[in-house]
Amino acid sequence: MAKGRKYKCPVCGIYDHEDSMVVEKIGGQNKRIHKVDCYRKYEREKEFKKKEREELDELVEVIKETHSIGVIPNQFYSFLQDIRNGNELFGKVGQKKSKGGYTYRAISQTYIECKDTIDWAIKNKDFKNTMGMLKYTKAIILDNVYQVSRQIEIKKDREQQKQEVEQSYDYNMEKFNYKEKEDEQDISDLL
Ligand SMILES: [Zn+2]
Repeated sequence: MAKGRKYKCPVCGIYDHEDSMVVEKIGGQNKRIHKVDCYRKYEREKEFKKKEREELDELVEVIKETHSIGVIPNQFYSFLQDIRNGNELFGKVGQKKSKGGYTYRAISQTYIECKDTIDWAIKNKDFKNTMGMLKYTKAIILDNVYQVSRQIEIKKDREQQKQEVEQSYDYNMEKFNYKEKEDEQDISDLL
C-alpha cells in the first residue's frame, strides 16, 4: 500500500498514514481518525453531543410551554449553558464546556415540577419583557434543580439495582432449567 501523505487525527492530534485510519466525513470534510481507540472515543463524543442536543431541544420546548411563549430570546441560551456547565455553582459564569453542572434533562424536569410556582409568578409579577420573566423563573429553577436532579439520580440507581436483581434471577432460572434437563437426561439414560 502506498504510504505517502500523513493525516492529522482530530482526536489525538497525531499525524499518521491513512491505512491505520478510518475516513469519516466531519463538517463536510473528510477526516482520518485512528482505528479502534481514537475512533471509539470519537463515536462516544458524537453520541454525547447528539444526546446533549436532543435534551436541549426538549428543554427549549418545556420552557416555551411553561411560559406560553413562541421563542426563547437568544441571550437566554447562555444562561441555560451556565446551568449545564455548572458555572452558576462555582461563580464562573460565561465559561464553557465543563458540563459539570446539571443535565438539560434535570433542568427540564425542574421546570415541569415548578410549574405552579412559575404560573404564580407570571400571573402576579409585572415583567418588562420575556427576558425579564425568564430570568426571574430561572431563579426558581436554580433553587430547586439540586433536589430534582437528586431524585433523578436516586430513581436511576433504583432502576439499575432492579435490573441487576432481574438479571441474577434470569441466571438462576437458567441454571435451574439446565439442571432439570440434566436430570431428565439422567433418567432416560437409565431406561
Ligand atoms: Zn488518533
